[in-house]
Amino acid sequence: MIQCLYCGRWFKNKQALRAHLKHCPAKTGKILNDGEEFLKLLLAEYIIMLFKKGKAVSGTEFIQKVGITEDQLLKFVNWMERNRYDEIPKLVVKARKTKSTTKA
Ligand SMILES: [Zn+2]
Repeated sequence: MIQCLYCGRWFKNKQALRAHLKHCPAKTGKILNDGEEFLKLLLAEYIIMLFKKGKAVSGTEFIQKVGITEDQLLKFVNWMERNRYDEIPKLVVKARKTKSTTKA
């Protein structure tokens, strides 16, 4: 048995632990404090949510989905604006709309 250093859950082997670490909420929260890697992960999650939903995702929905705090959400939003990544969700929604219009 091997323990996750971040959240304390136990796993049967290193492989299982590695798979868990990609989603461990305690670990991702820690990475967020260190810098940009987790923000990129959040952006990916956000884009996936947008694709699935096909329209804007609210902050509350996003917090519930990825399990971050409001402070973390704020940091994420600021980071997106700073890097002009906030254009990406708009493009995704626009692309989604165009696609469904073409279908219908
Ligand atoms: Zn963990």
